[in-house]
Amino acid sequence: MRSSPLAKPTRYTMLGVDDEVTTCEHCGKSNLKCTVVLGALDADGNAVGDVRFGRDCAAAALGRRKGTAKAKADYIEQEARNAQAARIVAGIFNSQWARVKISDGRFPVWAYFHGQIARLPENRYLTLLERVTGVAWRYVGNHRGEAVYVKATS
Ligand SMILES: [Zn+2]
Repeated sequence: MRSSPLAKPTRYTMLGVDDEVTTCEHCGKSNLKCTVVLGALDADGNAVGDVRFGRDCAAAALGRRKGTAKAKADYIEQEARNAQAARIVAGIFNSQWARVKISDGRFPVWAYFHGQIARLPENRYLTLLERVTGVAWRYVGNHRGEAVYVKATS
């Protein structure tokens, strides 16, 4: 949901990441690897819409000061991915995940599947996940110590 034009936002809150939108709404920079979805809040803390900023502008909007520009951007992207992963997993009950043991031939890994979503213990099993399922997946972010993936579209 987007209310446009925005009432003058005074601060922003982290909502997630958007890998499809690659142009920063703040500075107009394009061909970015992703954008960070921020909720714009007015002076009273009311949500006045959401915006998609590049990593650098998102870091600045959220007041991130620690580290180099790249460190700030990387940090903000991971935070955004984790927020996105939490949003994706939210509302799916434990009983709704199919628990499947997958293996690279050496040691097994427990994977959890729910429709287009998969959870694995760490973000290093993408190749294994794709080989076992025969389709492409995209890493979203980490949630509660696990890596969350969604089936890649197209
Ligand atoms: Zn920007």
